Amino acid sequence: MSQEGKGPLTMSHGAGGANMQKMIGDLIVPVLSNRRWRRPVIQVPLDALDDSAVVDGIVFTTDSHTVRPIFFPGGDIGSLSVAGTVNDLSVVGAEPLALSCGLVLEEGLAFEELERILRSMAATCKRAGVPVVTGDTKVVERGAVQKIVVNTSGIGRRSPLLDRNLKEARRHRKVGGNWLLDSNLRPGDAIILSGAVGDHGIAVLSQREGYGFGSVIKSDVAPLNMMVEAALKAGGVVSGKDPTRGGLANLLNEWAEKSKTGIVVEEGSVPVHDGVRTACEMLGIDPLSIGNEGKAVFGVVRERAEAVLRALRRTKEGREAALIGEATASVKGVVLHTTVGGRRILEQPAGDPIPRIC
Ligand code: MG
Repeated sequence: MSQEGKGPLTMSHGAGGANMQKMIGDLIVPVLSNRRWRRPVIQVPLDALDDSAVVDGIVFTTDSHTVRPIFFPGGDIGSLSVAGTVNDLSVVGAEPLALSCGLVLEEGLAFEELERILRSMAATCKRAGVPVVTGDTKVVERGAVQKIVVNTSGIGRRSPLLDRNLKEARRHRKVGGNWLLDSNLRPGDAIILSGAVGDHGIAVLSQREGYGFGSVIKSDVAPLNMMVEAALKAGGVVSGKDPTRGGLANLLNEWAEKSKTGIVVEEGSVPVHDGVRTACEMLGIDPLSIGNEGKAVFGVVRERAEAVLRALRRTKEGREAALIGEATASVKGVVLHTTVGGRRILEQPAGDPIPRIC
């Protein structure tokens, strides 16, 4: 459990991959563990390490944002901080209700930049229909953070559509979890991705490093609560998650491990925009391990896969949704059927190939 003798933290401990999960699993969760608390009643506890917790029926999550640079094509730290928290609430099957906004501002930040960030937060709140209702502001010395850190926490309540959605799934098979948990996937379930991966990470990276990839790649940052609602309306969704840090590769490995099932993914079915593919080839990065901020992945009982896919494609955020694979007992871990006809293990990334993107 002790991390002593292993040297200090590195950037990889915040990268959403295996190193970060080891630190959380070996140190943070054991110390803060809350499974044995009698009150409040914790339905989804800390050690589930899911997108949100559930406490006395209230869905609760938090996220700190340290993206560099703070403005990038398609978004900024303001839109990111609202969408990130709205999405973590939505993908477990909650209706987001309200957010907090904790600002850590560095001496020297221009008021114009702060105002631009706040207006972007407000616009994203409006789009999602979720208000900021409480907050905190601190200022730190020059050099203590890079311009600004934004923490947003959010609360939600059980979506009115969730019970009917799970009932639809239970017409076809047993579903243990009462929320859209990482551990709910079973062999036979379809894996549906709501759109193309890699846009956010590449957009931030190219702005940071001044790369010109021939075309401007825009971040996909967007609140997904309306899109998730459409999927729930179709019915049969058992798991939901947003492929943020560590990307799709990390998400699928988390699902496989927590659900104790193998997953097979058809590489050719995973949507990747041309500009992102070119950039990834130039940089030697796998688009499947890049973080996204406007995508969700759904585990769906096979019989409802087509209906959920159609429902997603009718939404603005899910118009490029695709069936990318299935859970199966015939493999261990996550196996990728490659476009050239091969098979390879899709490993959990150790760290993020592109740090500081959220
Ligand atoms: Mg998440």
